[in-house]
Amino acid sequence: MGPPGSGKGTQAKLLTDRPGWVHLSTGDLFRENLKNGTPLGKLAEHHMSKGEYVPDDVTVGMVRRRMREIPAAEHVVFDGFPRTVPQAEALDTLLAELGRHLARVILIDVRRDELVARLAKRAEGRSDDSPEVALKRFDVYQEQTRPVVEHYDRKGLLCRIEGIGTIDDVQDRILAAAG
Ligand code: AMP
Repeated sequence: MGPPGSGKGTQAKLLTDRPGWVHLSTGDLFRENLKNGTPLGKLAEHHMSKGEYVPDDVTVGMVRRRMREIPAAEHVVFDGFPRTVPQAEALDTLLAELGRHLARVILIDVRRDELVARLAKRAEGRSDDSPEVALKRFDVYQEQTRPVVEHYDRKGLLCRIEGIGTIDDVQDRILAAAG
């Protein structure tokens, strides 16, 4: 988990760059659907372009379908999911159905001023990273996703990682904390 611009996608990709590990990014799945022109992609774009979250039932349905395709022996790193408390509750149900469990929740913590600077740099590559949409995404994160962080903290599953430094520094901290 982490606010927009925290580097969670980069870190999740690194973490899963070894056999037996799978990267499940809901943002990537939405963008893939959009590229392929599916109805799900069109619906997601409507929300993504405004910096808002895609509705929970749509997001959970997509994760549920993807999880069913992943063999039980593979470790899954969720990236950008769950982002709301109802999504976290739905994930608990889904994992129980699949006989799986959540090992650890990693929060990449970065200060707001640093995030705004990073998002400004990324703005050319992503239509949802214009300054206005980036700020909106940050506000939505504070409002809807911070409670999920607290939810996992209360359950004793949360590891907080300092998100400043090189990509390798952050990856090392994650591996040390999650080891
Ligand atoms: P990301 O690539 O993770 O930053 O996601 C990009 C955008 O996709 C977000 O700003 C949301 O509009 C949408 N999105 C990704 N994951 C979720 C989720 N778990 N719940 C709702 N919307 C999501």
